[in-house]
Amino acid sequence: MKFVMFFLFTASAWGLDCTIRGHEELSAEILNEMQDLSCKKNQVHLTFDDGPSVAITPTILKELKTRNVKATFFITTTNLSSQHPKALLHKKIVQDEMFDGHLIASHGHDHSAHALRMNAQGVVLEKGFTQKEREYQIKESMDLLNSATSGKFSKQDQLLFRFPYGRGAMPSPAELNEMENNGEMTFSASGYASRLKEYQARSPSLQTIAGSGFSHLGWNHDSHDSSLSAKMQDRSVLKKFILSNLKSLCHGPSLQVALYHDIKEINQIAIPAIIDLGQCLGLRFISADEMKKKKSSLEKDGVYISREFIQKAPVDKISSILEKLSLGMKIDCVEEEVDQSCYSQQYGKRYTHCAGSESICFEGKWYSRTDPIVQGCIK
Ligand SMILES: [Zn+2]
Repeated sequence: MKFVMFFLFTASAWGLDCTIRGHEELSAEILNEMQDLSCKKNQVHLTFDDGPSVAITPTILKELKTRNVKATFFITTTNLSSQHPKALLHKKIVQDEMFDGHLIASHGHDHSAHALRMNAQGVVLEKGFTQKEREYQIKESMDLLNSATSGKFSKQDQLLFRFPYGRGAMPSPAELNEMENNGEMTFSASGYASRLKEYQARSPSLQTIAGSGFSHLGWNHDSHDSSLSAKMQDRSVLKKFILSNLKSLCHGPSLQVALYHDIKEINQIAIPAIIDLGQCLGLRFISADEMKKKKSSLEKDGVYISREFIQKAPVDKISSILEKLSLGMKIDCVEEEVDQSCYSQQYGKRYTHCAGSESICFEGKWYSRTDPIVQGCIK
C-alpha cells in the first residue's frame, strides 16, 4: 500500500500515468529512481535472439500481445532440429510468434560465428566458417524455419538474417586488422567506418545470405542482457537493467533496433517494464513493417544491410577498378594462396585482385572485359 501511494504521488507530480501493468510496486520503485530521465520521442523495434525458450518466450509473447507491440524473433534453428528434445514445443512457439504478427527471422543454425570472432583482449575465439559450412548453415536454418511454419517463413514480407555475435556483418576494428594481417581481406581505407563499409560490401558471409534472399539486420541498441546470468536477477539488478535500457533508448538515435534475448529470464519482467515506462516517457515501439519503411537511416549506419546492396556491391567494386584503369592508373595485383584466387598463366601466380587489358580478376574470379557484369560496370 505504501508503494502504491508513493507511486500515485510520483506519477501525479509528473502529470504522467506511468505504471507497469501487473508490477505496480516495481513501477513506484523505478519511478522514484528515474526522476531526472528526460526522453526523446525515439522509435524502437524490439528484437529477440537465440530462442525459442519453452520457459521464457511464452511469457514475453503474452506481455507483447497485451501491449500490442510487434517484434522480430531471430531463431537459432538447432532448437527446431529433430535431435533437439524440445523441438516440437519450440516449433509451436515459432508458430505462435508468427500468428501474433511478429516477424520470424534466422539467427543461423548452430550459433557459431560465420566469420572471425575475437574477444576484447584480441584472442581469436572462432575462425569462422568455410564457404561450404556457411552454405550448409543457411540452408539448414531456412529449411527448418519453413518446415516449422508450413512454408510461411519464406513468404513473409521481409526475409531477415542476423549473424551470431554479428560476425560476418559487424566486425570490430581489431578483427578487421586481423583479417588484413592474415591476408583474408585488403582495405583501401584506414578509418574504421570506411573499412567497415568496404568489409560489408565484400563480406563472403553477407554474400552468402544475400544469395539465399536474406537482408541482414544488426542492432544499434544493445540491452547487454547477455552479460547477465540466465536466472532471474535480484531486484536491484532488475531495476538497474530497466533504467540503463530506458536511458539509452531515450537518448540514442531516433530509430533504434534493440537487441534482447528471449532465453534470458530477466526479460519476462524487464520487457513489459521497458515498454510501459518507455511509452509513458514518449518512446514508440514499432513493428518490423514500420521499421522497413524508415530503414534508410539504419542502412546509412550499416545496421540494416539490404540484399540489393550486398549483391550490387561487387559490381561497384569492379566499376572502381575499371575507372582506375581508364584513368591509366596502375592496379597492383594482389597475390594470395587461397582457394578463391585467379591463376595467371602469364605470370604463373595466383591473385585475388588483378586487372589487365582483356580481363579482370575480382575476389578470386576472372571476368572477361566482354562479360555482361563487367560491361554493366563501364559507364
Ligand atoms: Zn545470438
